[in-house]
Amino acid sequence: MEIVEQYVCECNPKFNYKSKGTFNAHKKSKKHIAFSTKRKEESILATRRDNEIDLLNRMIEKITREKINLEIENENLKCENLNLKLKIKTIICVKKA
Ligand SMILES: [Zn+2]
Repeated sequence: MEIVEQYVCECNPKFNYKSKGTFNAHKKSKKHIAFSTKRKEESILATRRDNEIDLLNRMIEKITREKINLEIENENLKCENLNLKLKIKTIICVKKA
């Protein structure tokens, strides 16, 4: 079995460079450098967006917890308000009696 090295670059995946020398020369070409630079920028942008998504997800979790706490507090206040109304009615009834 013979091992044959192939020199293929992601910026031109259908082309097979004849030797390591022509492949290395290609890596110094404007086309490859532009491709490589664009890929690095896309990677940085993707990382920034991932970080932004993580931050937004943490904010959503925090707001969801706050919403649950406010709903509980609201229910407690409703209950307390109902108890106060019942107490007032009881007092009124006592005074009438
Ligand atoms: Zn290339």
